[in-house]
Amino acid sequence: MIDLIKGDITKVETQAIVNAANTSLLGGGGVDGAIHKAGGNRILEECYKIRNKQGGCKVGNAVITNSGNLSCDFIIHTVGPKWNGGKSKEIELLEKSYENSLKLAIENNIKSIAFPNISTGIYNFPKEKAAEIAINTIKKFLLKKDALEKIVFVCYDYENFNIYKKLLKK
Ligand code: ADP
Repeated sequence: MIDLIKGDITKVETQAIVNAANTSLLGGGGVDGAIHKAGGNRILEECYKIRNKQGGCKVGNAVITNSGNLSCDFIIHTVGPKWNGGKSKEIELLEKSYENSLKLAIENNIKSIAFPNISTGIYNFPKEKAAEIAINTIKKFLLKKDALEKIVFVCYDYENFNIYKKLLKK
């Protein structure tokens, strides 16, 4: 049910992949840049439409778009918190990012979903803490709702991969 891989999320063949976006929804660096580059303009066009309707995406929230040229069916864009020493509700907000992504997946009848290590790149969230939050939030969610069949954690760097490997063994 929960898988772990080391690699590029744009190549993962789940029904949805999650993007660690920013509040503008207009693309950026890291995984966001990789998804827009590989997926092409159709994703960005839909992001613009969402922006025009609701003015971007708040930290902790999530929106869903088409997947452009990627092999998945949907992209779920969520905005994780920037790490600010832990005193700006970062933990709660990262939990919300995972939860709201999962809620959107269920609302759209998605059965398999891949997550990057949200907030652990440019947003500088401590990796071990972020991994604990990701795993615990997802496990808690799966206990309540069993509509999802497969969750994949996609780690781009070995540091995150090794942290997840250790935590998922527990
Ligand atoms: P944030 O702003 O949320 O920190 P980043 O994109 O900077 O977002 O980083 C989030 C995580 O995504 C980091 O662990 C980074 O190593 C990882 N990442 C970067 N490119 C990819 C990719 N192509 N596939 C999966 N993960 C990626």
